[in-house]
Amino acid sequence: MSTVADWLVAHADLDRVDRDALLGAATGLTRAQLLARPERTVPRAALGRLADWADRRRRGEPVAYLLGRREFWGLELTVTPDVLIPRPDTELLVEVALALVDGESRPGGRAHSERPRLLELGTGSGAVAIALARERPALDVTATDLSERALAVARGNAARHRAEVTFLHGDWFDAVTGAFELIVSNPPYVRADDVHLRDLASEPRHALVAGADGLDAIRRIAAGAGGHLAAGGWLALEHGWDQGPAARRLLEEHGFGDVATHRDLAGHDRVTVGRRREHRR
Ligand code: GLN
Repeated sequence: MSTVADWLVAHADLDRVDRDALLGAATGLTRAQLLARPERTVPRAALGRLADWADRRRRGEPVAYLLGRREFWGLELTVTPDVLIPRPDTELLVEVALALVDGESRPGGRAHSERPRLLELGTGSGAVAIALARERPALDVTATDLSERALAVARGNAARHRAEVTFLHGDWFDAVTGAFELIVSNPPYVRADDVHLRDLASEPRHALVAGADGLDAIRRIAAGAGGHLAAGGWLALEHGWDQGPAARRLLEEHGFGDVATHRDLAGHDRVTVGRRREHRR
């Protein structure tokens, strides 16, 4: 027999937040219930699952993959090793996109005869596209990914949250036609030699790494976006904390105006935006 307290002590080498999440998932009890009565007995079946999860956690598997889920923007999303685990940092991309969409629809903003079209490139679990479609049902949201397996996860998440998103399979802009009012992406942006990749070994490398300087994907998107944006449309890209100047320079080189970088809650450069000029230079 093992109590909650016994299990926590026996697995003290694991992070406390992780232990609580695993215990909660295995027992079906909330964190408050576990804290309130640490003398509760952990059922045998739960102990079996916990033993497996604890082993795998020690070998480096993220809790989100062990449990098969992660919360983003208040939505519980299914995640598998085919998709990047949504990060809290990326909620800034959603906030920035919402502000751009709302700015466009204000009186004095540009008028849309039809639903404004939004494109997300490299959607992974679908987190960003689903959050945006749910927040602004008037948007016509399209999301692409190079991985069919990622798209299967994203489609499931959209169905679960009744988010209306058109998912297309293809590399960056390959699958899309027509012009969009807003293009957003959280592309891979980690440098190939970044030491932090050691800690991210369970996640799909193609969703993280973008060449020697981490800017390969951002370069591709900055180069292609102008051809898929309506005049006056916006591009918003997430990037690494030290990539703000490079992202701004790339957008400016490709003729974007109103280029600006937004900081995340830690105060780091995280999302750079730019606007397609009315008349292309
Ligand atoms: N922010 C992620 C990290 O943990 C990277 C995500 C990405 O490359 N898009 O490093």
